[in-house]
Amino acid sequence: MNRTVAKVIKNYIQRYKQKKLWYKVVSCLSAIVVFVTVYALILPAITLEDKTYCGYEGHVHSVENGCYENQLVCNLPEDEEHTHEEGCYKQVLICEKIEHNHSTSCYSDLNADVETADKWEKTFKGVELTGKWDEDIVAIAASQIGYTESEKNFIVLENESEEEVIKGYSRYGAWGDNPYGDWSVMFANFCLYYAKADTFPLNINGTSTEWMNQLKECEIWKNKEDYKPESGDLVFLDSKKEDTDNLVGIVESYNEEKQEIYSIVGDMDNQVQEYLCASKDDGVIGYCSMALAMDKFMIVKVEKRSMK
Ligand SMILES: [Zn+2]
Ligand SMILES: [Zn+2]
Ligand SMILES: [Zn+2]
Repeated sequence: MNRTVAKVIKNYIQRYKQKKLWYKVVSCLSAIVVFVTVYALILPAITLEDKTYCGYEGHVHSVENGCYENQLVCNLPEDEEHTHEEGCYKQVLICEKIEHNHSTSCYSDLNADVETADKWEKTFKGVELTGKWDEDIVAIAASQIGYTESEKNFIVLENESEEEVIKGYSRYGAWGDNPYGDWSVMFANFCLYYAKADTFPLNINGTSTEWMNQLKECEIWKNKEDYKPESGDLVFLDSKKEDTDNLVGIVESYNEEKQEIYSIVGDMDNQVQEYLCASKDDGVIGYCSMALAMDKFMIVKVEKRSMK
């Protein structure tokens, strides 16, 4: 009887030891997996970011970099009574390099993806203007779908919480003389400008809110609640981002049955994108009616001409 109990206990201890060993093996393995994964994740980031354009070498003075030398500052001669010790030496900077810690902006290539008018005007060379603003603005906007702001050429700003905000160079910013600005408003103005809607109340360098107020004053603004959008209208959209201005798109089409609009929006995730949403969606701020704008501002043009 006693022997059986002893055997059971022995077995149990053995199993326990095996379990312990197994546990050790598993935790070692998982530590290795974590290390390898973290390293594999860091690696591409390092290789991606190794090209800098600031013109400086990244350098911080340190003992390891050989920037300092221990120099004797003790005047006592070494003899039986005195042997130089730690306090007899002073660490002196001998490195002549400029200290520079690369920051995010050091990785921006300010010459990358830069465009001038001759380049962007080629992108809608095939568009034939009809003279109707609502049609022409959609045609110009459609030719720009897929454009993405530069990822290589950017500036770094700080927001209110002192976090870095990266603003990329864009074609529409370059056109509006604010190459690194939020460019949704500039994109819509660009389309109007090249659609030759030159008497339309443009607002190239204002915020979307400033432009909206201007359009309200001109009485060509429509609240979304009681309005059926039309092709060629401007749609103002909430960007839902704190560090970015709201968005302005150009309505391509309106599906009355589904009450949905297709619009072409600039600076939507840094791109010109086609965007589908409900015409009364929460994100829709309101519309500018291009039919009203044509009535109001094209007539002015004709009047002016006939007065001459
Ligand atoms: Zn140094
Ligand atoms: Zn000494
Ligand atoms: Zn640098």
